Amino acid sequence: MRKDFLPFSIPTIEEEEIQEVVESLQSGWITTGPKVKKFEDEFKVYVDSPFAVPLSSATAGLHLALLAMGIGPGDEVITTPMTFAATVNVMIHVGATPVFADIEPGTLNIDVQAVRAKITERTKAIVPVHFAGLPCDLDAIFALAKEFNLQVLEDAAHAIGTEYKGKRIGSFDSVSVFSFHPIKNITTGEGGMVCTRDEKLAEEISLLKFHGMSREAWKRYSAKGTPNYDIVLPGFKYNMMDIQAALGIHQLRKLDRFIEQRTKIAEFYTAAFADVDEIITPSAAPYAYRHAWHLYTPLVKIEKLTIDRDAFMAELKKENIGTGLHFKAVHHHPYYRENLPIAPGELPLADYASDRILSLPLFPKMVMEDAADVVDSVKNVLARSRK
Ligand SMILES: *Cc1c(COP(=O)(O)O)cnc(C)c1O
Repeated sequence: MRKDFLPFSIPTIEEEEIQEVVESLQSGWITTGPKVKKFEDEFKVYVDSPFAVPLSSATAGLHLALLAMGIGPGDEVITTPMTFAATVNVMIHVGATPVFADIEPGTLNIDVQAVRAKITERTKAIVPVHFAGLPCDLDAIFALAKEFNLQVLEDAAHAIGTEYKGKRIGSFDSVSVFSFHPIKNITTGEGGMVCTRDEKLAEEISLLKFHGMSREAWKRYSAKGTPNYDIVLPGFKYNMMDIQAALGIHQLRKLDRFIEQRTKIAEFYTAAFADVDEIITPSAAPYAYRHAWHLYTPLVKIEKLTIDRDAFMAELKKENIGTGLHFKAVHHHPYYRENLPIAPGELPLADYASDRILSLPLFPKMVMEDAADVVDSVKNVLARSRK
């Protein structure tokens, strides 16, 4: 057993990030300003999107995207139950009704045929989540959206650097939202980015993100600006700070290296668990893609064990291995269980995954010995909990 605790995730913050933050602190300008603009510009180039709006979180981005897309009371939005609650909470915030379509058993991404079956006259949008960094089948989703005149909002919180058929997530003709929370593939502490090819939508989101103010504050206080401003609608306070962007600028430049390291660890896990009957490793998808490997989420066949998934995670902790839970299906949470009309057994594949899933340690600073420790510990726990 390993001597020190291996957490499930640690951000990689290096000297460049630290120096850039210090420079921001010393510059006299710490909130939204030139560093946010620089991060926005470099992000646009990386994902190949003409417009990007930096925000305080992906949750803020999903919220403003739904508002800018005109989604509100009476509208239904179809999404996956295998996501973080934020994807769905924001639908409630705008007064819309979330509708869950079941997932594919292998990739854990939303099943496009299941989406089709949930479309009604009230459906306005589909919100796919690129689970763990594996892209959803966007061609199929866009074709369905076109057939029924629906909008597509990609929850790309896991998918910074993900590619679908040779194109980066963020570059498609939809709206996509990225997260820079510390466990995500790059971090700004907290932060998010909305990408779109629709200039009007980007303008609307920009307006909503800062009180509905017609001009950005940092321009107002610059030598060229004037202090007066207009509030043209009642907006929110969702702007990103320069201190955050200082991290993001350098994180983005390192992203491809981070993904390479994550991929090595993920491939090691998949090979190591290939002959372990109780572990179902994540499946590949039948189209060309680059996986960003934000998470490594096997399913544990608890029906073959004397313990459930939560006890399995507790046993791994005793072995000094940290785990995460991404995710308990959203319809299993009390609020959604009590407030959405979901029949028992309506989402069988999400139910199956939700009770068996866990996230193993996966972060760029991990070395192969760490990954080998994880595999050994998983095997140890299985050996003492088989029926
Ligand atoms: C992390 C996450 C979010 C929320 O991101 P924040 O930046 O923390 O608001 C949304 N959706 C999914 C799928 C996530 O994993």
